[in-house]
Amino acid sequence: ATPTALMVGTGRGAKMGILIKNGEVLEAVNDVKTVVFDKTGTITVGQPRVTDVVGNQSRVLAVAAGLEESSEHPLATAILKRAQADQIEAGPVTDFHAIEGKGVEATVAGQHALVGNQKLAADLTVSPALQQQAADLQAAAKTVVYVGVDQEVIGLIAIQDEPKATSKQAIADLKARGLKTVMLTGDNERVAQAIANQVGIDEVIADVLPGDKADHVQALQADGKVAFVGDGINDAPALTVADVGIAMGSGTDVAIDAGGIVLVKNDLRDVDRALALSRKTFNRIK
Ligand code: ADP
Ligand code: MG
Repeated sequence: ATPTALMVGTGRGAKMGILIKNGEVLEAVNDVKTVVFDKTGTITVGQPRVTDVVGNQSRVLAVAAGLEESSEHPLATAILKRAQADQIEAGPVTDFHAIEGKGVEATVAGQHALVGNQKLAADLTVSPALQQQAADLQAAAKTVVYVGVDQEVIGLIAIQDEPKATSKQAIADLKARGLKTVMLTGDNERVAQAIANQVGIDEVIADVLPGDKADHVQALQADGKVAFVGDGINDAPALTVADVGIAMGSGTDVAIDAGGIVLVKNDLRDVDRALALSRKTFNRIK
C-alpha cells in the first residue's frame, strides 16, 4: 500500500473509533490467524457482582470484606459492595497481602484468613457439600471465591460478570472469516468454558497466572499470526508479544500503551472491522 493508502486506512479507522498506531500494525492485522481474548473486561462487562453467599452469610461476608478492603481487584469491589448493601461491618485485619492470580490473605482476630480461588484454598479443609456447590456455581458461569479461616473453608462467594451484548456477534464475525478464537484467563476452567460457550469461543485456556499470559500467546504463534485483545495491567506483556495487540479503550493506561490498536468504543465487533479495514487497504487493486 502507498503511504497515502495507509493514511486513508488509519484515518478511516480513527473515524470509527479504531485507533491504529501505525501502518505496520494495519498491515499485520491482515495476516492474523488466531484472535486471543482476555475474559474479564474484554469479553465480559467487567463489573462483577455477588450472586450467592454460601455458608453463614454474615460471617462469610464480614471476613471477606475485611480482607478485600485492601485489594483493588474487581472481585474485591463486588464483595465490598455486597457487604455494604447487607450492612455488614468488615472486621479489622493485619498482615494483609495479595497473592497474584490467586487472592488475598491476612490475619483476622489472631487467625489466618484467606479469600481466593481453589489454588489459594488448596491446603484447607472443604466439606464435600461446599465442594459440590462450588462446582455447580462454576458450571453456571459464576466465579467462586473461597473464604477460609484457620484451616477451614467457612463459605463461598459466587460472582457473576455478564458477557457484553456484542461479544457473541464479534466472535461469530471473526469465525466467519475463518479465524480461530481463544479465551485466555486467570479464572477457573469451568467458569471460563461456560462463558466461552455463551459467546461461541472455540478454545479456552484457563487458570493462567498473570505472568504466563504472554507465554501462551507465544505458543499460539506457532500456528500463525496472533492478535491479543485485553484491558488489564496484567495483559500488557501479552499485548506486546502478540503480532497485533488490541487494547480496550476502557482498559488501564498500561494496556492502552502496549496495544498497537485501541478500541475507543469498547465494542469487540471492532476487531473484525479493523480486519476488514486492513483487507481493504492492502488488497486494493492498483
Ligand atoms: P482475570 O484473568 O480474570 O483478570 P486474575 O489473574 O486477576 O483473573 O485472578 C485469577 C483468579 O484469582 C480470580 O478469578 C480469583 O479466583 C482469584 N483472585 C485474584 N484476586 C482476588 C481477590 N482480591 N479476591 C478474591 N479472589 C481473587
Ligand atoms: Mg481483563
